[in-house]
Amino acid sequence: VPHVDLLLEPRWIIPIVPHGTILEEHAIAITGGRIAGIVPLAQARSTCDARRIVSLPQHAVMPGLVNLHTHAAMTLMRGLADDLPLMDWLNGHVWPAEQAHVSREFVHDGTLLACAEMLLGGITCFNDMYFFPEAAASAVLAARMRAAIGIIAVDFPSAYASDARDYLSKGLETRDAFRGEDRLSFCLAPHAPYTVGDASFATIATFANELELPVHVHLHETEHEVSESVGRHGTRPLARLDRLGLVGPQLVAVHAVHLEAHEIALLARQGCSVAHCPSSNMKLGSGIAPVAALLRAGVRVGIGTDGAASNNRLDLWTELRQTALLAKCATGDPSVVPAHVALRMATLDGATALGLADSIGSIESGKCADLIAIDFGRPELMPCFDPASHLVYAVGREHVSHVWVQGEPVVEAGGLTRVDPADIVARTDYWRQRIASHH
Ligand SMILES: [Zn+2]
Repeated sequence: VPHVDLLLEPRWIIPIVPHGTILEEHAIAITGGRIAGIVPLAQARSTCDARRIVSLPQHAVMPGLVNLHTHAAMTLMRGLADDLPLMDWLNGHVWPAEQAHVSREFVHDGTLLACAEMLLGGITCFNDMYFFPEAAASAVLAARMRAAIGIIAVDFPSAYASDARDYLSKGLETRDAFRGEDRLSFCLAPHAPYTVGDASFATIATFANELELPVHVHLHETEHEVSESVGRHGTRPLARLDRLGLVGPQLVAVHAVHLEAHEIALLARQGCSVAHCPSSNMKLGSGIAPVAALLRAGVRVGIGTDGAASNNRLDLWTELRQTALLAKCATGDPSVVPAHVALRMATLDGATALGLADSIGSIESGKCADLIAIDFGRPELMPCFDPASHLVYAVGREHVSHVWVQGEPVVEAGGLTRVDPADIVARTDYWRQRIASHH
């Protein structure tokens, strides 16, 4: 009888792999932070000597959600400026506020707030892009969460760095400093085609190849971005990145709203990933990403919240539902993005885009026990004929009852266990007052 640390006994297991599977009468055995196996419930207690058993009689357990694109520290600017076009929003509000306030402390406190929000909502891993990534990394570890930290690069100075070379060297130093932290991975994160020049992109392509790192970049978000690129560089942004050697399996193209058919084919041929952020695209009026066409072409599409300044909720359940609904609405075809596909996009496809598919994204033996439980014992989730359907069309983040990261319980009974909520409130209030008095 093997000893296991933890045995989860839920009503349903949605393992994501094999695709479309829902298991009943099974338990998940966890040991050393990893999934030891999925065992028939009848044998679980006799075949496993469990130190702890968590009975989840009205719950579904699935892999933790992967938020494929965010700027976590921007939670401190939630609701600061709404209802504006992207460039006015950036130039008139976000960038001035960042110039006035962004510091190591700001990023730490904002990221900690974001981690609290995301964990409570069932997100166990996020792909971040922001200044002072070392402060974000510290906050992620303090919250006992997992993240892909962006080695951010832009061609303008900030409180963090002076030029693209400085951004990259500081980011790579951060990567070295946190080497060995198995909850952290790193991406190269050039902000966007309109903030990064050719020379910087070429350097980033070299690093991406040498260090085998994903490249996380906003791409084809607005029509303006595309037409401006044609005016300035004589080419659309994707073609420009392709010329600079960045369009390959490591590319995580954020937004990808404005794509021509040949561009979708290029992304598919090169094995690229797209981070779809429907709320941000809707709120900023950017357009509707051609998700159904991307999936049909074979492009991997994960789901992101974007930062709290352009979405206001770091809630992947909202994005998950909107992904399914928008794709149907945009194509007039209710069969596109069915529930199991949407669930895979929000978990395994995001993990694969980040190069983490060997360790997270599905419930399989040997993977990290990054798991969430959703409580179906609520009137709004009754009756339940198909838990996968509910997870996409009916569940909200208020239904997340338990979250484990590497087998460690970080949310229990709907509350954080490793972070002090009062501390987060105090830190956030400090920044709210500072930003309000300078805005
Ligand atoms: Zn973004």
